[in-house]
Amino acid sequence: LYVGLFHPTAGPVNLYEARFASEKLRTLAMAENLVCPWPDCNVPADRCQVHHIDAHKHGGHTKPSNLTMLCKYHNGVNDDDGPRKKHRPGKTKRGKPKRGRMRRHRGKIRLHTPGGKLVGNTHDLSNMGAMDLI
Ligand SMILES: [Zn+2]
Repeated sequence: LYVGLFHPTAGPVNLYEARFASEKLRTLAMAENLVCPWPDCNVPADRCQVHHIDAHKHGGHTKPSNLTMLCKYHNGVNDDDGPRKKHRPGKTKRGKPKRGRMRRHRGKIRLHTPGGKLVGNTHDLSNMGAMDLI
């Protein structure tokens, strides 16, 4: 007997949402960013924490496209409550980011600064991640 939920056009629905990344997800995030992607940071990915680009507390999923590595410091200062593209009805509108927040832009992880610029890390290893090799 198999039990599951299936959307009529999208197919199987994932009913199990994990808060923490599996080792597989962590490995994928490390392969994408060999160092913390925050500009001018040089902490190697294997010493970083897995970060939800769209914060888990705001409904961000634990899936490869929503994860990146950030060092402990930058994971702490990232503005998880920054503005988002869509505001759901009933939710309070979030303010302007203070230190900025990480975003995925055209497939790559960038810092969205409080001034609205998208800035990548220029460390030598930052352009050797998986997304830079394809
Ligand atoms: Zn960092």
